[in-house]
Amino acid sequence: MSDQHSTLGVFRPAWAEIDSNALAHNVRSIIDLVHPAELCAVVKADGYGHSAVVVAEEVLRAGATRLAVALVEEGLALREAGITAPILVLSEPSNRGMRAAIQAQITPTLYSAQGVVSAREAAAANGQAVAVHLKIDTGMHRVGADPQDVLSLATAILDGDDLLLEGIWTHFSVADDPDDPYTAIQIALFDATVQALREFGITAPIHHLANSAGALAHPGSRRDWVRCGIALYGYLPESSLVPSSQVSLAPVLSLKAQVAFVRPLDAGERPSYGRITELKEAGDVAVVPIGYADGVPRNLGRCGGEVLIRGRRRKIIGNVTMDQIMVECGTTGEVVVGDEVVLLGYQGTDEITAQEWATKVGTIVYEILCAIGPRVPRVVIPISAS
Ligand SMILES: *Cc1c(COP(=O)(O)O)cnc(C)c1O
Repeated sequence: MSDQHSTLGVFRPAWAEIDSNALAHNVRSIIDLVHPAELCAVVKADGYGHSAVVVAEEVLRAGATRLAVALVEEGLALREAGITAPILVLSEPSNRGMRAAIQAQITPTLYSAQGVVSAREAAAANGQAVAVHLKIDTGMHRVGADPQDVLSLATAILDGDDLLLEGIWTHFSVADDPDDPYTAIQIALFDATVQALREFGITAPIHHLANSAGALAHPGSRRDWVRCGIALYGYLPESSLVPSSQVSLAPVLSLKAQVAFVRPLDAGERPSYGRITELKEAGDVAVVPIGYADGVPRNLGRCGGEVLIRGRRRKIIGNVTMDQIMVECGTTGEVVVGDEVVLLGYQGTDEITAQEWATKVGTIVYEILCAIGPRVPRVVIPISAS
């Protein structure tokens, strides 16, 4: 956390707990499943909202061998935190980003002629051969080289001694639906492209295709590495996804707060902006100091969202506001200022998951996790002895 935020959590009781035990458990489960493939842990977007540095240190301890990020900036932040493990950037850096990445020994992905030139120049300036990964677009159609251009790009990479072609990779667009034949088509196109390079004597020691969905549900896509993000954090990419064999994942992040204010309201009152929901019965309404600026979806209450207080589910009433939510607490006096509020995670035997929020508000679990904002302090639960 940066210094300007060092008082976060001191005065406002709202925080996220990052459970190192769950993270290590998930890493081991994934490694058991994909072995002998290596686990490249995807820690972009601040480790899907979990704190990239915390996650990186823990997953490397638990057996991941390398990291991947979306931005050069994210890789540099890991290096500044003292992380020395290999880091792959998943998109081709800009000219200036390329120089910064290569200076910091962060591996760039390449897929354009211009990218190859800028990587070569950066490597030459650095005076050291640099490993690069060539990305093929096999159908996601976001970034990556057209299969037709792969031979000329690979040839350009290998022209001279500055660049080493360490990896060739691709990315899936529908691997979270195991019944969709498109993933097999992408794998076949990848294999055909790699084979065509081999016929020109061009090979790379490392191939990687699988995201979490590929790693969990498409065993044929587990090659030298798997690039897992969401599974590390304890969630399936898609709630209905059935892994190829039993795999146990535990959510890593809990979102908690304390009740800040309680007041009795009459039946018929409509708390919060827009007056969208009417209290059916008189009772206490608790105010919890966390809102959409912290990542609680604005429409969560409208969509049936609940929180746990004193071991019971209680409805979020009305619109979530920027900094606060209101919760229907029934009988007067049952909930008091200072009570623990679990927005995500366990309280007693009940659990609210980020998947539950995602399903309710009509998005994917990724968006829920990434949205948990920088204003929420992350509290790391250390590995316990047991
Ligand atoms: C984000 C990302 C991943 C990780 O995806 P998950 O579904 O979270 O496992 C892997 N590869 C690329 C290229 C990505 O952008």
